[in-house]
Amino acid sequence: MKEHIVVLGGGVIGLATAFSLSRRGYEVTILEKTTCGGQASGAAAGMLAPYSEISEDPDPFFTFCLSSLRMFKEWQQDVKHASGIDFEYTESGSLHVVYHESDILALESRIAWQKQFGSEAEIVDHNRLKALEPNLSDDVVAAIHSNEESHVFAPDYVIALKTACENNGVNIYENTGSITVESWISSLVLKTEEGASFTGDRLVICSGAWSNELEETFDIRIPVFPIRGQICAYELGQEKVNHILTSSQGYLVPKENGTLVNGASEDIAGFSTTVTEKGISRLVNWNKRMLPFLERKTPFHTWAGLRPATQDGFPLLGSLEEHPHIIFATGHYRNGILLSAKTGEAVADIVSGTGLDPETARAFHPERFS
Ligand SMILES: Cc1cc2nc3c(=O)[nH]c(=O)nc-3n(C[C@H](O)[C@H](O)[C@H](O)COP(=O)(O)OP(=O)(O)OC[C@H]3O[C@@H](n4cnc5c(N)ncnc54)[C@H](O)[C@@H]3O)c2cc1C
Repeated sequence: MKEHIVVLGGGVIGLATAFSLSRRGYEVTILEKTTCGGQASGAAAGMLAPYSEISEDPDPFFTFCLSSLRMFKEWQQDVKHASGIDFEYTESGSLHVVYHESDILALESRIAWQKQFGSEAEIVDHNRLKALEPNLSDDVVAAIHSNEESHVFAPDYVIALKTACENNGVNIYENTGSITVESWISSLVLKTEEGASFTGDRLVICSGAWSNELEETFDIRIPVFPIRGQICAYELGQEKVNHILTSSQGYLVPKENGTLVNGASEDIAGFSTTVTEKGISRLVNWNKRMLPFLERKTPFHTWAGLRPATQDGFPLLGSLEEHPHIIFATGHYRNGILLSAKTGEAVADIVSGTGLDPETARAFHPERFS
């Protein structure tokens, strides 16, 4: 009989995990309290951008992110093939811009360590930048141009993943209300708020910003907490933007559907996904510095999501030492879309017995805080 894996949470991490497990032949069930992709995952800007995201020296998190980026070309083809749905995977490259000559030194040291990882990124001066991105502000003095970074349209990506899972035979239960773990040591039983129960052989916890609710159940520390991200989008109209544009204060991502995503704030607001005037106006003011034509535009859409942050900035990925049938895959903070490919395959490796490489296993161990 096939082993039955229950995945708690139908965000991008739960869906990617279920997709990887199902194509390796496992029976998989996803339990989602609201709708798949309805929380942080559907709210994301969709950047696959480890170089732009991680500015300091490389660590196991950076190498995990880079490895996911390099898997993405094949992964997105697999998801597209299994779902029949396109989600605007775009190899646009990125420009990380600075406004002061004195910041070029920081760009040089950043690019020096990136090159050790095979990056072909280079620093481009103002004149070359104008050719690459004609609408960029004259205030920009230089940028790191990285060809490798790309992006997807996150709302469509989660739909594609869900459809791929369904086509692979994954059982998906949505709108279950908050699921609780009734028993897990000798047998695994999960319950909905209305009392319906689900059983399985193994549990993968992909409950994002809500993962901390399971601390008492498993008697370990799970320091995952929600960081609100407010974000907005413009209609582009005649203006063209070719690359992901990032600065130390925010980013702009041009989408194939003619919109420009402008993100994103980071604030603590509990589990509120309310959009505030202050949060959005800050973004608008920061990011129009990169593209002055935004001065004439107003966002047509604003929204927010809850990033699952952890105490040390690394995700929780791996199984409990004494109970290997309980696996954590949560706490992906700002990079869950990027990390979906690598995480899905990593969980499938854990379940099938291959496991993680020792450095990743140690750095992301789910019991490291206990
Ligand atoms: C504004 C914004 C922009 C972002 N931009 C990017 C980006 O450009 N690139 C990138 O890589 N990442 C980005 N991120 C981060 C990314 O969205 C997250 O890292 C990722 O979505 C986390 O996925 P997840 O599946 O862990 O969480 P979620 O998508 O939040 O999914 C967790 C799911 O678990 C369910 N759940 C929780 N508890 C229970 C329970 N008890 N019972 C049943 N279901 C439960 C929830 O309902 C939820 O659907 C962004 C995030 C935000 C907010």
